[in-house]
Amino acid sequence: MKTIDETGNRYGRLTVVRRADSTQGGEARWLCHCECGGEKIVRGTKLRRGETRSCGCLEQETRVYNGYRRMRPTHNMSRSRLYGVWTGMKKRCCNPSHPHFKDYGGRGISVCDEWLDDFYAFAAWALSHGYDENAPKGKCTLDRIDSDGDYCPENCRFADMVVQQNNRRDRSNDVQVYLGQDGIYHASHNCGRKVVDA
Ligand SMILES: [Zn+2]
Repeated sequence: MKTIDETGNRYGRLTVVRRADSTQGGEARWLCHCECGGEKIVRGTKLRRGETRSCGCLEQETRVYNGYRRMRPTHNMSRSRLYGVWTGMKKRCCNPSHPHFKDYGGRGISVCDEWLDDFYAFAAWALSHGYDENAPKGKCTLDRIDSDGDYCPENCRFADMVVQQNNRRDRSNDVQVYLGQDGIYHASHNCGRKVVDA
């Protein structure tokens, strides 16, 4: 069977980078980069049939999302910290009477459609991207990578991940400024210690 060249093709969150080792049965497999930064080697047939559309992150998010949906009738999610993170983000962007609106909605920063009306979509993303409901206060806060960008999956991460990245670069004097879930900017030393409240 002639191998179809998949290089450069996109399937869901995956972009095919190059050919990988074939299966023992001789089927072509491809190294793919995922939107989340992950990698996966996938058979061409699975890509073309739509069976594999991410490195596994999509399935993980869907599982979390469905888990939250099932919890809905019995658990009062509105008491969770994550619910507070979600409502805070929306108020800063959408409610002109919020004290920090001028720095968010007032500057044109918005919440993506996916998250705006659906807490469970936001929660699924958060829980599969390092959010820890039980982390000490200030240790796991929602951070926008580009501070002029919107609240959306591509531009958000949690602050403990930022600290980890600083550590990897070994910038021992680096102070990381980030937006806390209270809507206030904080600064952390790369050891994770909070040093300044702005
Ligand atoms: Zn992925």
